[in-house]
Amino acid sequence: MDANATTPLLPEVFEAMRPFWMEHYGNASSIHQQGQHARGAVEQARSAVARFLHCLNSEIVFTSGGTESDNLALFGVLSNQTAPAHLITTTLEHHAVLHAAESLEKTGVGALSPPVQVTFLPSTPEGLIEPAALKAALRTNTKLVSIMYANNETGVIQPIAELAAIAHQAGALFHTDAVQVTGKLPLDLSAEGPLKHIDLLTLSGHKMYAPKGIGALFVRRNVRLAPMLHGGTHERQRRAGTENVACIVGLGKAAELAHAWLANDTITTPGGTPTNPGGVTNPSAPYLDSEMWASGGRPTAPAHLHAATNPTQLTALRDRFEQGILSQIDETGVNGAGAPRVSNTSNLYFNHLEAEALVIALDLKGISASGGSACQSGAAEPSHVLTAMGLSPARARASVRFSLSRLTTAEEIDEALKIIPAAVARLRELSPAYQRNEPQPV
Ligand code: PLP
Repeated sequence: MDANATTPLLPEVFEAMRPFWMEHYGNASSIHQQGQHARGAVEQARSAVARFLHCLNSEIVFTSGGTESDNLALFGVLSNQTAPAHLITTTLEHHAVLHAAESLEKTGVGALSPPVQVTFLPSTPEGLIEPAALKAALRTNTKLVSIMYANNETGVIQPIAELAAIAHQAGALFHTDAVQVTGKLPLDLSAEGPLKHIDLLTLSGHKMYAPKGIGALFVRRNVRLAPMLHGGTHERQRRAGTENVACIVGLGKAAELAHAWLANDTITTPGGTPTNPGGVTNPSAPYLDSEMWASGGRPTAPAHLHAATNPTQLTALRDRFEQGILSQIDETGVNGAGAPRVSNTSNLYFNHLEAEALVIALDLKGISASGGSACQSGAAEPSHVLTAMGLSPARARASVRFSLSRLTTAEEIDEALKIIPAAVARLRELSPAYQRNEPQPV
């Protein structure tokens, strides 16, 4: 139950990649037949990713993953500035954006460039970035706004179309780290689509059932991007380096499968309106992009359900998990519950527990989850995302992220609903504060 950390490779993805490790090992830049075979496969994969995102093939740049795509977006856009530029991002970002922004703030893009001015927008207690806060932070020299689409720890979805439109009105470019929504929400970047104001978008293969070490950056036509790597003219001079053909093929196949999985949401509400594409929790919550989903009518998962075959079923499975935990365990709750969330993520706090202890106890029982804290200098720092949402360090340290994959089954959820309450009860027996009934800081 740790799919936000990484997803398994789908068998179809592995099969599509297989020939490109052995018999078809050509370099896609070679002009001979072997090379041209590899080139054809790379371009076919590019078309699949472009179809998935509703964009042009030429707008896709293959990279080594989410971290590189995020860095390329920030450094690539902010290169070549002669006057000090301003970047707006948020306190909720993944370190791939956060640390890149901090580096730009400290040293700029290169030896000759001035440092970048950076504003880190605060979060609401629900984990949302308020459009008004973005409006207030914009300056005449704001060149780029980078706000993640959904958070990797809480699954909270930002009102991204609205935020991107605000950035555009002020003449700034807009980048979003969409690593945690790819394959979970439909993404339409076409010039007429709901995401038309997004200029750059990051995705990562290993969060969407493709391999690790492959990703892409969508760069809208006419956006000027300086390369970070200097070398050949690969990827239209935006990312030098011999293409990772097999993994690119895997990413293309994963995009095709994700497209089909998202399109498989066939269940309709009694009135015949389509359900909530992407299976977003809490679709009536504030800040939602109204055109993204039509109704909140979600069926509950049938008892015999195995793995979810579409986002609605995955949401039902996740909701069943959450309700099962909340009804069995006291002093627990959902972080980010008041905001729209992606279909697979559940970040839960268990008062009077150290998340690390629970993660280890669950691992011994065969359940993978994530504590969300980073071990720095031997001490577990509470998650920067949860503290940015205003949680106390104690509550942040007591929070565990469970994230389902498309392969998680109803049977696994039922098993988890037996194991987790027992593990929490055992650990709380060892907690003097819990035994003394002391209140925990929220
Ligand atoms: N952005 C987000 C939101 C992520 O969750 C991750 C990975 O955890 C990344 C970026 C980095 O992606 P990659 O592991 O492909 O470098």
